[in-house]
Amino acid sequence: MQPAQIRMLVESTAKAVIAAADRLTDLDQAIGDGDHGVNMRRGFEAVLADLDGLSRKPLPDAIRAVGTHLVMKVGGASGPLYGTLFLTLGKELPVEPDLPGFTRAFAAAFDAVKARGKSDLGQKTMLDVLGPVRDALPGLGGDPHWPDRIKRVATEAAEATVPMKAIRGRASFLGDRSIGHMDPGACSAALMIAAVVDSLEGVAA
Ligand code: ADP
Ligand code: MG
Repeated sequence: MQPAQIRMLVESTAKAVIAAADRLTDLDQAIGDGDHGVNMRRGFEAVLADLDGLSRKPLPDAIRAVGTHLVMKVGGASGPLYGTLFLTLGKELPVEPDLPGFTRAFAAAFDAVKARGKSDLGQKTMLDVLGPVRDALPGLGGDPHWPDRIKRVATEAAEATVPMKAIRGRASFLGDRSIGHMDPGACSAALMIAAVVDSLEGVAA
């Protein structure tokens, strides 16, 4: 990827998260402490402030640098978890990733988040979006509609957290009262995936 493409990818993803901050905060107000949007905005504003530096790096290093900003700035439970996701993705990605390379790196990043959060699928967290996306990635090859397909997987997976009962994170303190709301981290994961896909679609076009 060229520096301009890396810049577009990182910038559009960061802006998508920042634009959704109020929605993420509302979701976290329902079943958490209402800071997820603020946390994520703080992290991605730090990413935007470093866009020039980031986009001069090869793709894996740029993604690792995003992870470092998120670890340092987001805070809460999601900061270390998203930090781990991007740090591991960056560590595992080849410089010019193809679908198998990206799929392998994403699977490793999923495992790292799961280990860091001592969490698993079905517990109403970001993993409930990241897992279905990981599972869908290998089947995207050769599908001209892959952008819509993977975005739909992520959106539907976020929706599927609504009826779940939270077993991990702050929302688990609510027990059954966590049922009926989308998990904020599932929502942020789905919207980041959509932003990345939209940006990559622009690169591929
Ligand atoms: P905090 O819960 O500390 O206020 P945030 O509000 O920023 O942090 O993030 C909450 C989100 O983090 C949750 O919606 C959930 O998706 C995710 N999360 C929390 N704990 C875990 C965990 N152990 N494993 C995976 N994801 C988690
Ligand atoms: Mg919170």
